Amino acid sequence: MKARLPFLVFLAFVVFAPPLLPEFQITLLNYIGLYSIVALGLVLLTGVGGLTSFGQAAFVGLGAYTTAYLTTVYAVSPWLTLLVGLGVTAAVAWVLGLLTLRLSGHYLPLGTLAWGISLYFLFGNLEFLGGHTGVTGIPIIEFFGLELESGRAFYYLIWIVLAGAVVATQNLLDSRAGRAIRALKGGGIMAESMGVDTAHTKAVIFLIAALFACVSGWLYAHLQRFVNPTPFGLHIGIEYLFMAVVGGAAHVWGALIGAGLITILKQWLQDILPKIFGQSGNFEVIFFGILLVIVLQRAREGIWPWLVRLVPVKAGGQRILAEAEPLPCRPLPAAGTVLLEVKDARKTFGGLVANNNMNLTVKAGEVMALIGPNGAGKSTMFNCISGVDPVTCGEIRFLGERTDSLAARENARRGMGRTFQHVRLLSTMSVLENVAIGAHLRGSKGVLSAALHLERAEEARLLAEAKRQLERVGLGEHLFDEAGSLPLGQQRLLEIARALAADPCLLLLDEPAAGLRYLEKQALAELLRRLRAQGMGILLVEHDMDFVMGLADRVVVMEFGEKIAEGLPEEVQQDPVVLEAYLGGVE
Ligand code: ADP
Ligand code: MG
Repeated sequence: MKARLPFLVFLAFVVFAPPLLPEFQITLLNYIGLYSIVALGLVLLTGVGGLTSFGQAAFVGLGAYTTAYLTTVYAVSPWLTLLVGLGVTAAVAWVLGLLTLRLSGHYLPLGTLAWGISLYFLFGNLEFLGGHTGVTGIPIIEFFGLELESGRAFYYLIWIVLAGAVVATQNLLDSRAGRAIRALKGGGIMAESMGVDTAHTKAVIFLIAALFACVSGWLYAHLQRFVNPTPFGLHIGIEYLFMAVVGGAAHVWGALIGAGLITILKQWLQDILPKIFGQSGNFEVIFFGILLVIVLQRAREGIWPWLVRLVPVKAGGQRILAEAEPLPCRPLPAAGTVLLEVKDARKTFGGLVANNNMNLTVKAGEVMALIGPNGAGKSTMFNCISGVDPVTCGEIRFLGERTDSLAARENARRGMGRTFQHVRLLSTMSVLENVAIGAHLRGSKGVLSAALHLERAEEARLLAEAKRQLERVGLGEHLFDEAGSLPLGQQRLLEIARALAADPCLLLLDEPAAGLRYLEKQALAELLRRLRAQGMGILLVEHDMDFVMGLADRVVVMEFGEKIAEGLPEEVQQDPVVLEAYLGGVE
């Protein structure tokens, strides 16, 4: 409960500030509020989603100029221009998103620089927007009959909007849609394999960040009652990013801390530095440059995580999961039905043939083991089957339909669940949340209901399912642990629980027993036997031969990308070709 206290103090300060503080400080708080709204969008986009944008100031400009133009030229009500501004921003962000979000690595930030500059010059060069002189005479906003003329009156509007944005963002992050967003940074392939449409998710956070910026611009225009292009230029775009990074880009409160700190510091430095240097100039920019380098070197996560550590929070407060009705399950095909058919599959990486002429089938209610020395091409086969990295040529059929050109998330939707040889989990998220990503396709509620927390019933069912699967694999004690804190063997079990949470009919397990202790292996074998008895088809890659031979119904052996043997476990074990591959000859 102690963590609440600083928050309540902050809340009391925000609520009671206007009557107590002088005008100048109210102005400062107004700007902190406006910047925080933009920085909050960047928390979602950059800090959580991993997409860096230097161009947010341009979206602030869109919000500001839309209302400036429409209210002054056509005398449209400001509340209506807010809606128009949001519409315009959404349209522009959609086009810019299409153009830039496909870019990866450092090309994306470069792309945002490009359109950030373009929009800034557009504002400055359009005659009807007043060119570089801008637009004056923007009307006062009326709010429940109150004329928000003074900064003091405007204050509450800004901070109410900010509070709404904070709550919505926090709600969003703590939801099914939020898990998809949090998986973007460093978990893209995993998320796609769990059915998340990552391109769509990126577009959504890009849009939300742009809309937040637009709202801030609308507020700014009516606070200042004058706009020109200067506050929407590239250097301000960089400053927004700077705020988010310094405050703690991956945390909602980091936006407020960053905006607050930078705004106050800037004000203070603008006063003090010219006195020190004996001449006027933007010396604070130099200071900020140095500050950023120090933050990047010393506290890359920003100030917020560091602040959190200072507040003693009572440990051990485990969340209690709400009771929830179980999710519906898909009917499993009858035992013996062919689930998966690989025909003459070939996969090359440049000149390297990783899979050649591969043929195999997996039926419902059987464990098919795929074995072979390291580098034989087993994981490559898994990636081809699951759509992570499609075959070069050949045919793959799942449940009777061609799937070799389908994306991983499409295969997931059809009932294919998988784990990865090199575990792919979101190490700072809880074990429970990691597994809940597996149940992504069993929910449907989107961003809007998440932001308003109208999806709590569905969310409870998803989390209950994740908990059930974790108990099934023996991780029931670790629901709220950080996933990254588990030993590797248990991380593999987590991956199995995550795959099971998707309710698959075919399970692809890539070395699930590696790193497990003897008893854990036995428990895993028992679980796989139970799944098989229920009608699940399992394709298993594993090096532990006792584990494989005691469990598998059929075995396919690979070497150098090709199938060298296939049969019952006891047949394969006697096959001289297999012994040759494994032991380098029988004699
Ligand atoms: P296994 O899982 O049987 O140990 P892999 O499927 O991981 O083997 O690898 C088969 C071969 O393909 C290896 O020679 C490996 O180096 C190569 N390979 C796998 N993935 C890639 C990739 N993305 N790019 C290039 N070569 C790859
Ligand atoms: Mg492998």
